[in-house]
Amino acid sequence: MNRPKRMLVENIAWAREIAHADPQFFPRLAQGQSPKVLWIGCSDSRVPAESITNANPGDLFVHRNIANLFCPSDDNTMSVLEYAVRVLEVDHVIVCGHYGCGGVRASLLPLSNDLPHVNRRIAPLCALGERHRKELDTFTELDARANRLAELNVLEQVRLLRQAPVIADRAAAPLVHGWIFGLHDGLIKVLASGYDQGCAREALPSANADTRETVESAGF
Ligand SMILES: [Zn+2]
Repeated sequence: MNRPKRMLVENIAWAREIAHADPQFFPRLAQGQSPKVLWIGCSDSRVPAESITNANPGDLFVHRNIANLFCPSDDNTMSVLEYAVRVLEVDHVIVCGHYGCGGVRASLLPLSNDLPHVNRRIAPLCALGERHRKELDTFTELDARANRLAELNVLEQVRLLRQAPVIADRAAAPLVHGWIFGLHDGLIKVLASGYDQGCAREALPSANADTRETVESAGF
């Protein structure tokens, strides 16, 4: 069986299983959506928003791109944010990066001539890396540098989102959070909590995975 066909077969099995467990699930789903969270994550296949947070269809409004970038000049990203905030009225915006991010890693390497679109897309990441070059150069291993830049990138997107007029000018603005996902243990670490805005940079832990706090130990 080819892969698309297998996916369609799995879809039928999934739909039947859900309907069997909860006959009202799909009728409810068809009535509309009212997600409380906008998720901005990386396109990486290993970081599916719903799976890693045990969320259901209808729980998350999702925007994913390479290296979970929020670009105010990009209509794709901005339209998602605008709709989420002004129409769906989400309570939270979560930027979730991940360690081992290929997009972040690529920004630390010579750009590929075969990937002009990717190059343009990660240009802000390259600039961010330059701004933090002194700190990043303290890591001898490329992977460690990339992991630290992945953290800094999440915080930068949080900063940009918090100052975006769509959010900043709103009376009941959604809280913006910065998270990062560990591929090696499946756990999410909170880098910036919307509940204590302004403390994110001071609270930022090191890129050393061994000293990472889990979501549970951080009290979230
Ligand atoms: Zn990634």
